[in-house]
Amino acid sequence: MIEAHSHSKALRPILESSNILITGGAGFLGSHLAELLVARGNHVYCLDNFHTGRVANLSKLQFTNRLSVVQHDVRDELPDSLPAFSEIYNLACPASPVHYQADPVATAMTNCQGAWNVLRRAERDGARVFHASTSEIYGDPEIHPQPEHYWGNVNSVGPRSCYDEGKRFAETLFTDFGKTRGVAVRIVRIFNTYGPRMQPDDGRVVSNFIIQALLGQPLTMYGDGQQTRSFCYVDDLIRGFDLLMRSELADSPVNIGNPGEFTMEELASLVLEITGSRSPVVRLPLPVDDPKRRKPDISKAKDLLGWKPEISLREGLIRTIEYFDRELRKQPAMTIS
Ligand code: NAD
Ligand code: UDP
Repeated sequence: MIEAHSHSKALRPILESSNILITGGAGFLGSHLAELLVARGNHVYCLDNFHTGRVANLSKLQFTNRLSVVQHDVRDELPDSLPAFSEIYNLACPASPVHYQADPVATAMTNCQGAWNVLRRAERDGARVFHASTSEIYGDPEIHPQPEHYWGNVNSVGPRSCYDEGKRFAETLFTDFGKTRGVAVRIVRIFNTYGPRMQPDDGRVVSNFIIQALLGQPLTMYGDGQQTRSFCYVDDLIRGFDLLMRSELADSPVNIGNPGEFTMEELASLVLEITGSRSPVVRLPLPVDDPKRRKPDISKAKDLLGWKPEISLREGLIRTIEYFDRELRKQPAMTIS
């Protein structure tokens, strides 16, 4: 009880009728966040260039008058026509290796110019600003699990660098705007997150394995399947976003992820068991610079925010499989890359 009380004292009150901007708001995570913020009575502006996002992701909000969808590229200065914001969430960036490597210059510049444009706008509006960083800033980590004070092991010139280094630069810019320009910044380091509305064609392992299993196609296992990841269900992550944004104490990056660690072979077995699929597993080469292990140390999120994940991988997969099963029935021609 004492612990819960001290956490709640360190949270600012929930905003209920404010203008809030989400860049990348039509994407997987942005759309879940928009639903939470609109449900509280805020007017949410989802700014997106629809590179990987879709208006359909926001369809649950189609009848509210508290959602505005703005087509805009975050690399360009944010439109003056938008109102002043109380809060800004910067999520705009393709998140899956397939998409962020398709145009690496665009990815790097989305991270750099996007951060610059968002921060200048936050400074002008006096908005609190939240940045979606990533476990990728730890690269192929030599420390396990990864705490926030670990600086990482990142290749600056590899195929993942546009994303990893772009996100690292954005963390620097956010931090320095906080230190030198009085902007209230919050930085989350997101570990692999999954759930309804992941893009079916983005090549991530959870969506690939589920769709392959449901379609009776071979599961594509890259490498020997012994590499690990820690998968967080989207509802747990968004709850963490909210606590971090409202925290009065967290002015440096915080890991949000599920510390349960699984090999890709274990993930494949679980997906096959839950779907009842008889799909075989095929082996394909491991992508260059693919991290061998990844698992968050979430002590800081527990101490500072009172946050920990509540949804197990099995439960989250059941919900995600139900979602893709429904989607496949609507669009039987759905394919993956
Ligand atoms: P997503 O691809 O579904 O969403 C990203 C959104 O940003 C899309 O709607 C896309 O159209 C938009 N976008 C991309 N470039 C843009 C630009 N230049 N201007 C305007 N909009 C642009 O991915 P997501 O999983 O929802 O990821 C959201 C954020 O969280 C990203 O910044 C990503 O790096 C970060 N993140 C996600 C994960 C994860 O596991 N999902 C892990 C770590 C970090
Ligand atoms: N992976 C796989 N099969 C797939 C897609 C991915 O074995 O069809 C592997 C990939 O090589 C990596 C892990 O699954 O080791 C997680 O990949 P994902 O792209 O989902 O996330 P990230 O590598 O960005 O953590």
